Amino acid sequence: MKKQYLLTPGPAPVPEEIMKAMSEPIIHHRTSQYRDIVWKINQDIKKIFRTDANVLTFTSSGTGAMEASVTNTLSKGDTAIVVRGGKFGERFSEICRAFGVEVVPIDVEWGTRPHHAAIEKALKEHPEAKAVFIQLCETSTATLYDVKSIGSVVKNTRAILVVDAISGLGADEFFMDEWGVDIAIGGSQKGFMLPPGLAFLAVSGKAWKLAAASKLPKFYFDLKRYEKVVTEGDSPWTPAITLVLGLGKAVSMILDEGVDKFVARHAADAAFVRQSLSGMGLEVFSKYPSDALTAIKVPQGLDGKKIVDTMKTKSVIFAGGQGHLKGKIFRIAHMGAITREDLEHALEKLKETLAELGHKVK
Ligand SMILES: *Cc1c(COP(=O)(O)O)cnc(C)c1O
Repeated sequence: MKKQYLLTPGPAPVPEEIMKAMSEPIIHHRTSQYRDIVWKINQDIKKIFRTDANVLTFTSSGTGAMEASVTNTLSKGDTAIVVRGGKFGERFSEICRAFGVEVVPIDVEWGTRPHHAAIEKALKEHPEAKAVFIQLCETSTATLYDVKSIGSVVKNTRAILVVDAISGLGADEFFMDEWGVDIAIGGSQKGFMLPPGLAFLAVSGKAWKLAAASKLPKFYFDLKRYEKVVTEGDSPWTPAITLVLGLGKAVSMILDEGVDKFVARHAADAAFVRQSLSGMGLEVFSKYPSDALTAIKVPQGLDGKKIVDTMKTKSVIFAGGQGHLKGKIFRIAHMGAITREDLEHALEKLKETLAELGHKVK
């Protein structure tokens, strides 16, 4: 099979070592063999979240953990502040509304980020707000939010800070405990180099206190059930054993490289991509670009969909724009197992594509 360059912000490529770990014979989860593996994962994955809290693992895509962060902390009629700077900010607001939570939106222009002062102001105007929902990286615009500054504002209020770090984790710097993040969420198919199917969520002491008063319905995603057994390497329901075996390999690969180095490699690759693009006369879309992926403005006179479709014929898979950015931007991921060589190859093919579509490339 011809190599496909899967440079999308989820799913992202899965290295062979991880595929191999997932092709091992299935084992039973109520055994010491499995519990030992999970126990080790639980110790190691905390280092990626930079937290002392337990990281709970769900069988779901990332959205399941997003929903769990709402249903486990809030009650019907509660108020939540939700930053909407793209598709995933909108998703938090949709989840809140689906469960009868009043949303105070902070709308930011797509491609920019919320200023922490805007969150401070919203918290002053809505002292009843129990939670603030943001992204680390808003994947739809490839924008990095200033979680540290926002954390320093939310920390002094009764509200908890929930961060959807699904695409940013591992690529962009993130310090859950140090930055005052109360719930941090990850997903397997982004920087974790796994197929889709697992979501991760860590909970601070402040968030557990709020959770004790939460009345929204929950069962499968009831965090208390996971927390109760997590230190034994157990989970309340049958886990996605195969994916968890892959997770063991993925987490040990990240720790072998070193979390700092893993993050630094993303920064270097992101800088390389941005520099190459500007060398080609292309413009990065986001004002605050993430190191997990880069969004590029479609040059005037070209159709973004055509660029993505033409790249596909060359076995390089980019993501298009979402929402009102459809056709206006396209996105290249450089997360997880995506290598510098992959990126060089993709940029070469992009040059070819633009020339074929009649765009003069520098
Ligand atoms: C991918 C992603 C999600 C989760 O999407 P799923 O399809 O449910 O895995 C959520 N937030 C962000 C920022 C993402 O990049």
